[in-house]
Amino acid sequence: MKEKVLILGAGYAGSVVANILAREFRNKIAKDELEVTILDKNDININQGGFTFIPFELYTPEDITRPRKKLISPRVKAFFGADGEVTAVNLQNKEVAVKSNKKYSYDYLVIAMGCRADVNAVPGLTDDLNTFYTSMEDAFKVRDLVKNLNNGKVVVSVASMPVPCPGAPVKFTFMLDSYLRNVKKIRDDVQLTLVWPMEPIGPPEFNKFVTSQFEEKGVEVIRNFPLANVDAANKELTSKNGDKINYDTLITVPPHKAPQILIDSGLTDEKGWIGADKSTLQYRGPAGNYDNVYVLGDLGPADILKTGIGAHYQAIAVSQSLKNDIYGNGIQTPYEGETGCPLVTELETPATPGKGYIATWKYAKPPEAFSTTKMGWFLYRMYYHIHWDISVKGLF
Ligand SMILES: Cc1cc2nc3c(=O)[nH]c(=O)nc-3n(C[C@H](O)[C@H](O)[C@H](O)COP(=O)(O)OP(=O)(O)OC[C@H]3O[C@@H](n4cnc5c(N)ncnc54)[C@H](O)[C@@H]3O)c2cc1C
Repeated sequence: MKEKVLILGAGYAGSVVANILAREFRNKIAKDELEVTILDKNDININQGGFTFIPFELYTPEDITRPRKKLISPRVKAFFGADGEVTAVNLQNKEVAVKSNKKYSYDYLVIAMGCRADVNAVPGLTDDLNTFYTSMEDAFKVRDLVKNLNNGKVVVSVASMPVPCPGAPVKFTFMLDSYLRNVKKIRDDVQLTLVWPMEPIGPPEFNKFVTSQFEEKGVEVIRNFPLANVDAANKELTSKNGDKINYDTLITVPPHKAPQILIDSGLTDEKGWIGADKSTLQYRGPAGNYDNVYVLGDLGPADILKTGIGAHYQAIAVSQSLKNDIYGNGIQTPYEGETGCPLVTELETPATPGKGYIATWKYAKPPEAFSTTKMGWFLYRMYYHIHWDISVKGLF
């Protein structure tokens, strides 16, 4: 009997799983013993990591987008648009409905639909919303804002955790400092503040390094400021603790949440994310325990760091587990918490070398002491070009 793997979301994690399975099971697929299907609401894959660089014109839209059909193996059945936009997931009936009213059944389900910004979660936020977190268009608006900046107090505010790539606002702030200092040469006229919702910025060694760099560069850091309200008329932020901060220019990372249809399908845990075992990534949540349902990427449990690097390693572990499931060998491949947070502390400008580092860690192995380097800058910049043909295709 033909077995069916259904993957929801053809973003980073979903594409990697689809491509690995298509390669491993090419014979079974050819003999019609296995069907791998992937669904997405649209047909363009965006590498959101590039949004952080758009304000400084370091990547173009062409660099950070690809048609999904060029990224997914032709052995995989792919449906994009109305036939791919998921509207309901029923784990008990092993059935997924999409916008066109079509229904898909499965033996194994991979939920990889990412997460999205919830700009209405903070009252007043939409009255003064400048963010590079939501779309290409919004990232370009931040570019224009930054280009036209002349003076005043610029506040980069991260409203709450978790968000995808919590390191992105950190490197954005460093790049903004470098841009204002070395390109626009107006750094002395700008007060730059990073407002953070909790005490540490990442694991201990990461926090230590970025704290010293912010001090060195004269960037003020305000911690424990979970954003409660934006008063755009008075240009004032209020935290959930009642603290207040004024600004002239506000750049925000909004709160994020799992896709609404998964919340409406009753799959989310008490924190609003899709529950899963942190090691096997099998679904464990209010809908029950399902060993044939894997949860990966940005929509997973709140305490699994939401990064592309993490999504990649999760996709590799889940692909191996699916191979084991299909071969029926009873082996489980754990996700060991491999993740990372690429950092940039200096742009490459006429006056400075670029400086970067790709800090990585696992559940049981926090990052070691590190420093940013010119080589780190080049590797991180280069990564965006190998992302499409190596990472997304599941070749490592
Ligand atoms: C500004 C920014 C900077 C970042 N920088 C970095 C970085 O430097 N390094 C790093 O490692 N990570 C970074 N990340 C995080 C990284 O982009 C994500 O962790 C990664 O994309 C997660 O992959 P995913 O597959 O879970 O989700 P996604 O890649 O978002 O894919 C989810 C897919 O699900 C689809 N989908 C959603 N709803 C539906 C539906 N109803 N029906 C069908 N399909 C649906 C979407 O269209 C999308 O294609 C950054 C993120 C942002 C926003």
